[in-house]
Amino acid sequence: MDSTFRRTPNIHLQDLINGLLQGNRIFLSRAITLVESKRADDKVASAELVDKILNTERKTLRIGITGVPGVGKSTFIESFGKMLTEKGKKVAVLSIDPSSNRSKGSILGDKTRMDELSKDPNAFIRPSASGSSLGGVASSTRESILLCEAAGFDVIIIETVGVGQSETIVKDMVDYFLLLMLAGGGDELQGIKRGIMEMADHILINKADNDNLKAAKHAKDDYWNAVHLFPPNDADWVVPVGLCSALEKNGIEEVWSEIENYQSHTAKNGWFEENRKRQAIKWFHERIHARLEEIFYSKPMIKEEIKKREELISSQKLSVRKAVEELFNS
Ligand code: GDP
Repeated sequence: MDSTFRRTPNIHLQDLINGLLQGNRIFLSRAITLVESKRADDKVASAELVDKILNTERKTLRIGITGVPGVGKSTFIESFGKMLTEKGKKVAVLSIDPSSNRSKGSILGDKTRMDELSKDPNAFIRPSASGSSLGGVASSTRESILLCEAAGFDVIIIETVGVGQSETIVKDMVDYFLLLMLAGGGDELQGIKRGIMEMADHILINKADNDNLKAAKHAKDDYWNAVHLFPPNDADWVVPVGLCSALEKNGIEEVWSEIENYQSHTAKNGWFEENRKRQAIKWFHERIHARLEEIFYSKPMIKEEIKKREELISSQKLSVRKAVEELFNS
């Protein structure tokens, strides 16, 4: 974003919107940078931008993809994305990376990980947004989805690393949630993975090739048994458990045909639309909470006032309830 744009957002905003609506990827990139910005003037421009490009007509599909580092997410997205562009779809790839703050890196920072797809004129790959809160990153990713859709992209893929909180956030912004797994390592059916498995609309065991094929088939049976003990999901959808080799491009078409099944199943039972509506309302309330927090913490002297009360609370001279009342009334 150049400084002219920042200083006079309104003059250039219409140009940005026009370029975006024409599907220009440079404008799309700039628009995403704008919605990711934390500057007050950019926030005003972003609100106007997102409001103007809301798309109510075109049918799009938002797919979340998760799995532990090394499971093959980028290899899968490369194969899957290429298959989709060959079918005439326009594909955008965004990411949410909870580790990017710490490492200052990003799971998609290195575009060469999706070498072919990044050169495809019908694909758009955007490295992860970074920010101080996962909530803030999530919100700008939601807006980036809307921008990609306005720019004519049909399928938006949101990638995240399978480490916990970010899954829930991604689940809340997509139509279909795909979990990539590996065979072996008996831990997979336990612990945190269970929660993530319960969120999945599709479980896919990757690297089902060569010496790993037999173990992958075993894992598939195990996951199938586990998944079918879960209560029925909101979509009333029987979660498929499949095998694939992202590297050898096997099982990729099958994933797409399951997604198409899901689309027609949830169009018929109304869940597709219902889910998008619920997600938008939930996002609205999350933003209200975030805004309230921002307003509260920006009060003058608030940090000092909190610090003072922390000491009183820890020495039991002040109750938490009273402290909170005082802060809100100060
Ligand atoms: P990510 O961290 O989940 O994005 O995983 P990557 O896509 O970077 O893949 C990690 C490693 O696994 C790379 O060396 C890939 O070449 C390899 N890999 C990915 N998919 C497959 C697959 O289907 N079969 C095999 N044998 N290796 C794969």
